Amino acid sequence: MTMIIGVRIMAAPCCGARFSAPRYLSMNFMAFAYWTDGWRDQSLMPNGEGLRQCSCGKFTLFKELVEIDTAESSDLPYINRVPSELLPVCIATADNEEIEVAARLEYWRELNHAYRERYRTHRDAEEAANKAIWEVQNPDTRIWWDKLRGREAPTYIRTESMPFTVPDFEPSSKQLENMGRLSEILSNYHLSSPFRSNTTLAELFREQGRFFEAQEAISKIQKQDAGVTSKLIAELINEKKSTLIRYRM
Ligand SMILES: [Zn+2]
Repeated sequence: MTMIIGVRIMAAPCCGARFSAPRYLSMNFMAFAYWTDGWRDQSLMPNGEGLRQCSCGKFTLFKELVEIDTAESSDLPYINRVPSELLPVCIATADNEEIEVAARLEYWRELNHAYRERYRTHRDAEEAANKAIWEVQNPDTRIWWDKLRGREAPTYIRTESMPFTVPDFEPSSKQLENMGRLSEILSNYHLSSPFRSNTTLAELFREQGRFFEAQEAISKIQKQDAGVTSKLIAELINEKKSTLIRYRM
């Protein structure tokens, strides 16, 4: 459960401008659906890498803000997230690698949104077709007496044998440039670096169709650290599929 009690008063590292921020007692990262690039649909917590823009115009990371006080409430504004149209500027002017990585990760997911839209539309249409066929094969044969006695109508459940396809995933040159640079930076981090995520790296390589490097990155995940996401990505690498995939947990 996500619980918030009061606010934190924060100062920006660049110019000392003050902001307020919700004071989380607990966070819940549950979402309606997850995507292999780390995006979450209808999540209780915002998506993003903590990238912010100070009122003076400087880009920063939320974790760079210094907490100077806590309060029950405050009139101070929240510090702005970086809007998607500013991400290329943020990448071009980032004065440290950590900001560049955060901006490129957000840009990666941002550029995947158009595909996500096509994917949803395609899957909804295919699912509606599957259901229509199923309904013909499983008609509601209850007579008034069955209904009176509360007998349920047959309910549709997707089965493995039903078609499951997704649209072609063809990253643009802009996407490939961003993913290429991002995977280069992440690969250069030492294996023990907290900035290195082998799941993210494997997914970046996979979406570029670089399956050998994707395989190498995913093989560095320790067995005890493997979760639903990394297992799914490993499977997709095995099948040499580069498509972004939506899944549920
Ligand atoms: Zn500032």
